[in-house]
Amino acid sequence: MVREKKEENPPAKVEKTEPSGKIQDLKKRIIRFCRNRGVDLIGFAPVERWDEANEVPPEYRPRAIWPPAKTVIVLGLEMPLPIVETTPSVVHMEMYKTANVELDQLAYDLTRYLNRLGQASFFFPRDGYGSMRALREKNRAAFAHIPAAKYAGLGTVGASHNLLTPEFGPRVRFVSVFTSARIPPDPMISKELCLKCQACAKCCPKKAIRIRPDRVVGDYDDRACLEMADELVTRRCFPCGICTKVCPIGRDRTVYKQPGIMKKYLREKEALAANPEDPEYRAWTHLRTHGVAQGKRREGKKAAAGPEGKTLP
Ligand code: SF4
Ligand code: SF4
Repeated sequence: MVREKKEENPPAKVEKTEPSGKIQDLKKRIIRFCRNRGVDLIGFAPVERWDEANEVPPEYRPRAIWPPAKTVIVLGLEMPLPIVETTPSVVHMEMYKTANVELDQLAYDLTRYLNRLGQASFFFPRDGYGSMRALREKNRAAFAHIPAAKYAGLGTVGASHNLLTPEFGPRVRFVSVFTSARIPPDPMISKELCLKCQACAKCCPKKAIRIRPDRVVGDYDDRACLEMADELVTRRCFPCGICTKVCPIGRDRTVYKQPGIMKKYLREKEALAANPEDPEYRAWTHLRTHGVAQGKRREGKKAAAGPEGKTLP
């Protein structure tokens, strides 16, 4: 009897795929679901893009975090420009907190919606840490939304390490939903959006950003940025976000129409140092000087660590 020779290297397992009409329909349903809930930006990234780009360490990639993942769906919410301009202020802090809660709710809802459709899903919340102390010990979340948003075709990474989107520049917050469904990807943006204008580097109060002559993404001192975050958490007007405020990229600027605004940003620090009542900045300083303690904290009372933080890459 001739026995069949056992193959030493069995062929790679062929992935079971859904018919293309069904999967296109799934993509449309996800987009409709998210748009109906007010999502501003949505993009789809195949998990292989993390391996192809090889920018994120392997243990921080979607499949290492949740092995069934095949697609990452990234959702974005706008941070309206005139509120970002008041930073650091309680008004900005409240908007930031609201956007974060809204993003987690959206991701939670989308995950359950996909599960109901029979597509196993998982989400990573918009921030991945519980305190400033945790960030001081390890200045990195277990998963980063900025590369996810880039691989989902929502923007490019600028000198400031923020994701710049055509719609809102860096004035947008993200959350990511992983799903085992293989959904048609969105193309990545190939043209860099960053102009290397240096506004982020010039206006950063901690000089945490340094423009590089040889590449778009600048050098970023995350410890200096964290120091700023610590100060603002203590004053209860976190986060900083000045680098997101001054970036000229984004069609949101055409909605708000502010001629001469870049000069106003670049002059701000000097003008307010010379005259804290400078009428040109009165609207912003009014909001910064209400609802936020201006004096020194009482002796013996420890600074409370806040739960929020700049999304550090
Ligand atoms: S402020 Fe200018 S240099 Fe900085 S990220 Fe935006 S476009 Fe790039
Ligand atoms: S968040 Fe503030 S301190 Fe941090 S890099 Fe941006 S401008 Fe600088």
